[in-house]
Amino acid sequence: MAYPSASKLLLLSTCSGGGLLVYSDSSPSKRTLTADGQEIKKKKVVVLGSGWSGYSFLSHFNNPNYDVQVVSPRNFFLFTPLLPSVTNGTVEARSIVEPIRGLMRKKGFEYTEAECVKIDPSNKKIHCKSKDSTSLKGTTEFDMDYDILVIAVGAKPNTFNTPGVEEHAHFLKEADDALKIRRSVINCFERASLPDLTEEERKKILHFVVVGGGPTGVEFSAELHDFLVEDVAKIYPKVQEFTRITLLEAGDHILNMFDKRITAFAEEKFQRDGIDLKTKNMVVGVTADEISTKERGSGEVVSEPYGMVVWSTGIGSRPVIKDFMHQIGQGQRRVLATDEWLREDIAAIFGKADKGETGTLNKKEFKGVVKDICQRYPQVELYLKKKKLRNIANLLKSANGDNTELSIETFKQALSEVDTQMKNLPATAQVASQQGKYLAKCFNKMEKCEKKPEGPLRFRGEGRHRFQPFRYRHFGSFAPLGGEQTAAELPGDWVSIGHSSQWLWYSVYASKLVSWRTRSLVVSDWVRRFIFGRDSSSI
Ligand code: FAD
Repeated sequence: MAYPSASKLLLLSTCSGGGLLVYSDSSPSKRTLTADGQEIKKKKVVVLGSGWSGYSFLSHFNNPNYDVQVVSPRNFFLFTPLLPSVTNGTVEARSIVEPIRGLMRKKGFEYTEAECVKIDPSNKKIHCKSKDSTSLKGTTEFDMDYDILVIAVGAKPNTFNTPGVEEHAHFLKEADDALKIRRSVINCFERASLPDLTEEERKKILHFVVVGGGPTGVEFSAELHDFLVEDVAKIYPKVQEFTRITLLEAGDHILNMFDKRITAFAEEKFQRDGIDLKTKNMVVGVTADEISTKERGSGEVVSEPYGMVVWSTGIGSRPVIKDFMHQIGQGQRRVLATDEWLREDIAAIFGKADKGETGTLNKKEFKGVVKDICQRYPQVELYLKKKKLRNIANLLKSANGDNTELSIETFKQALSEVDTQMKNLPATAQVASQQGKYLAKCFNKMEKCEKKPEGPLRFRGEGRHRFQPFRYRHFGSFAPLGGEQTAAELPGDWVSIGHSSQWLWYSVYASKLVSWRTRSLVVSDWVRRFIFGRDSSSI
């Protein structure tokens, strides 16, 4: 699946000179002795988060010269692609989570169940809050020092400040969210089956509204529809006729990040299935009983009663990251930017560009910043050669010509074009886990690279760097559409839709589960569902 970009994993070194790692003197490092009695100072790596990027980093990390400490509010890894299947009981929540304590023990890492609420990069400290409100010391807050901080905290659902969403809608981001949705769906059917209700009341209770036609909203709608058709029809036959699913999307089409053939197939299928698909409709408010939408063309606002709303309109940065971005001069950005080695010091470049709201850069300054960009984004030069980034190409031309000054505004525009082209990787599990693996490999090779600092040649032909920059490899995306049909978009513009792709989906996701334990649990859940149907109890 493709997801809008938001979450980033980065290695945060407070270095200014472009080296990968710089350690402070007041280091919290542990000291250990080697067999021949030599003292080794271990650097402390603090990892925030145990999700896709954090877990991948930890499982590939293999360098005994670091002391690794993990801080995350959840002590498990969650296989999010199967979360929609938990909402209707196709798969159990525990089947898609992997406790991280096992990995901690195996690798000799430390884990603290807490949330980081503030990053203090100048003092190399994080401020944390534990979930435990009954701490013996009477405090649930503490500070932790680090030499290197790996930020892998993911993102939070984005409500665009729509009134009433936080209070009345369900989100689908964590295991708890999926379990709440599952309970809520069943409760709607139990409530609608109570005696002495009018037809209108039953219709209201059984009106399920899904907001957001992206991969998660579409998959959830499809799962819910399957549940209604395959199980509810047998379990609640008297109220089945009152059920309705509405899928609201503000854009022109659903699944707009996929190939047009997939979008068209999905829209037709949903219409055939009786899912009420309303595109060009923006939600403007949610109350306890009604959801209000505004049609994009006419501007007409319509309110409809509902029984349950699931909100899935994308993701945004977490407050701790927003605060951190303000501290490092990225306050104007939507997501945290890193350089190609997933380090935070790209901020320095944007800092330079932000030095004046208006005004000009002289030729020397301009050349310096462009050189900086080319060093940090080696592909920029390749793009320039292919004339893909015309703005920068033109700017470079004029910088080499007679012009002595350039407008900072024009320069900023060109920079943001570079930023968009270079950095906008989709916020998917695929990207996150590849980033985690890449970063762990950098750590694993650290000593070797320090002994031989020239490292691999940079492919831009000038200068050297110890590590190859991060490169994302896209292996394809899936969009399950219900009724044992899935759309698959694979590299090379290859699109496949139907039952055969569903089998490909089963095999890919079974293979991607992180352990044999979860793999066997999920496969047995699928088999159980085929034989006995879904469990409709609301425990
Ligand atoms: P996460 O996996 O969200 O992990 C974040 C971690 O940080 C968690 O452990 C969290 O507890 C922890 N954390 C949060 N705040 C703090 C804090 N303040 N301090 C310390 N720790 C903190 N992607 C795909 O590629 N394919 C799919 O099919 C797919 N399906 C999806 C279905 C659903 C329902 C959802 C919600 C997402 C799906 N995604 C899919 C997207 C994918 O899950 C995300 O892109 C991926 O989880 C991002 O990884 P991450 O490591 O950045 O964040």
